[in-house]
Amino acid sequence: MLTANCHCGDVQIELVRKPKSLTQCTCSICRRYGALWAYCTRKSARVLTAPEIETAYRWNDKAIEFYHCNQCGCMTRYESVEKTVASRIAVNARMMPPPDIEGVVIRTFDGADTWKYID
Ligand SMILES: [Zn+2]
Repeated sequence: MLTANCHCGDVQIELVRKPKSLTQCTCSICRRYGALWAYCTRKSARVLTAPEIETAYRWNDKAIEFYHCNQCGCMTRYESVEKTVASRIAVNARMMPPPDIEGVVIRTFDGADTWKYID
């Protein structure tokens, strides 16, 4: 198991397993957040946080929402707006202790343009 938490600790996300790879994306929002994504499903990542602790930000076609902690501002994940057990949670691996993700391959996704991995 692997735990991600925001700076103040109010938001915690548990992942059942270590990700095989992490993704940095070049799109307009991911580059601003500086996020490093660990892709999970709602079944493989558990968010341990009361809803009032976070704010969700939706943009563009509003199909996904980015969550940040109301206290420390850390952006911890994005999720699809429509939530099922199989729907994606992308957990921001910057919230994980660096030793826990050491050595995991980091891939670059060109979300700004071609929508392909460019590594
Ligand atoms: Zn926080």
